[in-house]
Amino acid sequence: MKVPTKADPRAATPPVSTEEVDVRSLEHELRRSTEAEVRFTAGDRAIYSTGGSNYRMLPIGVVIPRSVDDVVETVRVCREHRAPLLPRGGGTSLAGQCCNVAVVLDFSKYLNRLIEIDADARLARVQPGLILDHLRDPAQAQHQLTFGPDPSTHDHCTFGGMIGNNSCGVRSVMAQFNGPGSRMSDNVHELEVLLYDGRRLRVGKGSSGDPEIDRKLTELRDRYAALVRERYPDIPRRVSGYNLDDLMPENDFDVAAALVGTEGTCVTVLEATVHLIPAPKHKSLLVVGWDSEYEAADHVMTVLEHEPTGLEGIDHVLIEDMKAVGMHPEDVELVPEGQGWLVVEFGGDTKEEADAKAHDLVAELKKGDNPPEGIKLYDDPELEQHMWDVREAGLGATAFIPGKPDTYEGWEDSAVPPEQLGTYLRRLRKIAKKYDYDSALYGHYGQGCVHARWNFDLRSAPGIKKFRSFLDEASDLVLELGGSISGEHGDGESKAELLPKMFGPELIDGFREFKSIWDPDWKMNPGKVVDPYPITQNLRLGPNYAPPQLKTHFAYAKDNGSFEHAALRCVGIGKCRHTSGDVMCPSYMVTREEKHTTRGRARILWEMVNHGELDLWKSDEVLEALDLCLSCKGCTKDCPVSVDMPTLKSEFLSHYYDGRLRPRHAYAFGLIDQAARVASKLPAVANALAPVTKRLVGVHPKRHLPEFAPLTLQDWYAKRGTHNPSGKKVILWPDTFTNHFHTDVGVAAVEALEDAGCRVVMPQGHLCCGRPLYDYGMLDLAKRYLERVLDALRDDIRAGTPVVGAEPSCVAVLKDELLKMRPNDQDARRLAQQTYHLAEFLDQEGYEPPPLQRKAILHEHCHQHATGGIDPDKKLLEAMGVEVEKPDSGCCGMAGAWGYEKSHYDVSIACGERVLLPKVREASPDALVVTAGFSCRSQIEQETPRRALHIAQVIQLARDHGAGGPRGPYPERAASPKPQGGKSRGDKVIAAAVGVGLAALAAYASRPSRKPKRAWR
Ligand SMILES: Cc1cc2nc3c(=O)[nH]c(=O)nc-3n(C[C@H](O)[C@H](O)[C@H](O)COP(=O)(O)OP(=O)(O)OC[C@H]3O[C@@H](n4cnc5c(N)ncnc54)[C@H](O)[C@@H]3O)c2cc1C
Ligand code: SF4
Ligand code: SF4
Repeated sequence: MKVPTKADPRAATPPVSTEEVDVRSLEHELRRSTEAEVRFTAGDRAIYSTGGSNYRMLPIGVVIPRSVDDVVETVRVCREHRAPLLPRGGGTSLAGQCCNVAVVLDFSKYLNRLIEIDADARLARVQPGLILDHLRDPAQAQHQLTFGPDPSTHDHCTFGGMIGNNSCGVRSVMAQFNGPGSRMSDNVHELEVLLYDGRRLRVGKGSSGDPEIDRKLTELRDRYAALVRERYPDIPRRVSGYNLDDLMPENDFDVAAALVGTEGTCVTVLEATVHLIPAPKHKSLLVVGWDSEYEAADHVMTVLEHEPTGLEGIDHVLIEDMKAVGMHPEDVELVPEGQGWLVVEFGGDTKEEADAKAHDLVAELKKGDNPPEGIKLYDDPELEQHMWDVREAGLGATAFIPGKPDTYEGWEDSAVPPEQLGTYLRRLRKIAKKYDYDSALYGHYGQGCVHARWNFDLRSAPGIKKFRSFLDEASDLVLELGGSISGEHGDGESKAELLPKMFGPELIDGFREFKSIWDPDWKMNPGKVVDPYPITQNLRLGPNYAPPQLKTHFAYAKDNGSFEHAALRCVGIGKCRHTSGDVMCPSYMVTREEKHTTRGRARILWEMVNHGELDLWKSDEVLEALDLCLSCKGCTKDCPVSVDMPTLKSEFLSHYYDGRLRPRHAYAFGLIDQAARVASKLPAVANALAPVTKRLVGVHPKRHLPEFAPLTLQDWYAKRGTHNPSGKKVILWPDTFTNHFHTDVGVAAVEALEDAGCRVVMPQGHLCCGRPLYDYGMLDLAKRYLERVLDALRDDIRAGTPVVGAEPSCVAVLKDELLKMRPNDQDARRLAQQTYHLAEFLDQEGYEPPPLQRKAILHEHCHQHATGGIDPDKKLLEAMGVEVEKPDSGCCGMAGAWGYEKSHYDVSIACGERVLLPKVREASPDALVVTAGFSCRSQIEQETPRRALHIAQVIQLARDHGAGGPRGPYPERAASPKPQGGKSRGDKVIAAAVGVGLAALAAYASRPSRKPKRAWR
């Protein structure tokens, strides 16, 4: 394989040259010499082919070191094979610096420890894979300390990456006023680094730990000192170029700081010691609005005089974009009057002190020539967080706006002196207008750093030429105003070619020499920052981009009907790599594997469509990457650009198995509605056969199959009839799980709806939304099921009769999948709109539930999270008087039948054990455990001594037993559906017959299975 190597520095724009590497020998030797995970398959390489940038470069392979020794050995083996290296953290870089034709060293999975916090010295020692919040949270909680630079990616970016990029963030101004400085380079005390030649050094102020390197660096510094002082802009956000200024005597020859921001092009960081700063005990948040973002920017200097801890800017375009994509709809309303806003945070030892600073600022602004249009001081921490969510929404909100062209990074982090910000924004917009480009302009206004995402055309030669020309004009403007081409994200490939304009050719020579001191062979992340690939090379799309038009089952309406665009939707933000909060992405939260993120899955699917290394629709590697996706829909809600992995996975499975037999569990679970229909004739027999069934269909031995109820909900209701004939008509959806297994939930739902004044109607006969079919890609059948549902309910749909479901995953089909299958069917639209989760409906109807004095742990089913949320359940419980605790429990891990399958058991349990199951075990015996999901209740019942209730059952409990309710375990209800009769002789005969049938199935079962290989190592 040809790999990049040293450029020819004599050329005007030196090309990156290449040399041959024996990849097979390299892989073999890496496996032999290290304990690391060594991944060289087409799929593994596809997953690491880009970060959050416009670029795509397939790596040679991926190494996931388990120890520092593994890193040292990997570098040795790479050196012996002359293979380039690319260290990587969270892979959220936006400038193309974290993809390359190199061996990727992924530090995030294992080398992610917080080694120690020395609170007295205000220092912390960290491994490079540590996530920023994994330092900030304990530092704050235990020592009231924090870390200055805080990128918006704080819950998933790593220290190695922050060091690599010289990261800053929202509260960098705090570090500017009350700490060592605003950039990462100001906040690093010491680094342990590994050179490509194998030397391991501790670098810090005054020394690199190697006399020869010190000598070379000093000599380099002395030669370039005058130019550095002349050409480096004195602004808070100069991130472009190497930090030669940190070698100056006035900066104490800070070698560690000089290596910060080198983007993996000089050394590999093995460990870092970083500065901590006092965290304000109390904060207050002020948002001030003017007629335009320009006027907001004009007031930055006034605000800075008040020493805020955060000073950000947002504009009306961002707010309009957020509204257009339906992002944080309520939060957007929190913004006061205006078209351009400053978001100002103050800190203090008391809330009063923080508020007083805000009031002082407001008083001064009101006295000024151009007083603000709108002013809002927040006093509720929850609302303050919502306001920050609006600010942090940036990239996600502006990437894909309905009716507008896609937007891209590329000129997204330029910085100017803060006093020039108003001028810069005005002139930048003017230039953009000339090019027909548009973008929100928001970001770290307090430090003059502006974020944007422009509608570049990166798919055609003229479009790319125009993009390149815009970059020239925009960078001329920034430099004219004394700014920096990159003010935050680094140069990578997207800006590096522009650096000669900023620093001049002599300093670029200085950069070359600096790199050569550390990496004489130029094997570290070659072609980035210095002597780079041209900006328009290696684009992920590019002028020859022609994705195939694929025939699909789903409509992909948001993506112009394109499966490929639905996969391209992942812009690499990496939020699916966060390790707590929300639902996305349960598999990553427990495996910590890029492959098991939504991003990893989207990437491999996109590669499958666009590049030949992975067979279209038939790749086992793609199947394996998708296997641990629980189809929990977490990403559809929590991913800032709503990547919809369950739909993509389902589509893939339908094509993968086209013309092939599926594994047996797919038929058993995918067709559970059919099996349940048969079993309902003889539920006792079906239950007795559960152990055999379990073995036949590949259920994990530790799982118990749920028992069929003695009487279906439909049969029970047909006999019982309504108790409220004059009430408002409501259809209670008899989903398979409530109808056949947890009928007691259905009974409770009927009673709750009647208590709310409704007349319940329950469709009879076999009707199923087809939920399990999606999990196995049985989409032709799923389509037919939906048609049957629409036909059966058509009159009620048109009459506007609400459809209420007790089981969130089935409600989700009618609210979500239905429209993805039939976007242009008016009845489908109506049905989606008039379908409700039970609590959602009761809340909307203004139901006054009966009182109950209990505590409850309330767990949100993941499909409910994606299609309505759990607030109505919480509201109802609180209205009853229940003291509710909602743990951050994410997905329970069962996810329909997914957690029953043998190959998923470990991950399923790990998902549950992350928060939910320990929380349930710890709950006091008289606290109720409440969740709407059949899967969640099954997971809880199987893994804890507790039984979980549906909210309908909580209402039933209160109605049956009064506000005091029964203490202790939930009592069985006498009115629960009664058995149809015990196990008769007839039952036993039939059981034998079924047994013979199952034996035949067993013969089928013994054929080779297409089950994916174990994906979790
Ligand atoms: C939506 C969004 C918002 C963002 N907001 C901000 C922001 O507010 N402020 C900000 O500064 N940035 C921001 N970024 C950019 C990015 O998230 C940060 O730069 C982040 O610190 C990168 O961390 P990472 O772990 O993802 O690094 P990666 O992308 O994995 O790596 C970054 C660089 O560091 C190098 N590197 C990684 N580990 C090592 C190591 N062990 N040794 C040597 N080099 C290493 C890599 O080679 C690469 O060049 C944002 C990005 C996105 C997508
Ligand atoms: S899937 Fe969503 S959250 Fe994950 S990286 Fe892609 S865009 Fe970001
Ligand atoms: S559906 Fe769930 S498991 Fe699958 S990618 Fe999305 S968040 Fe992750």
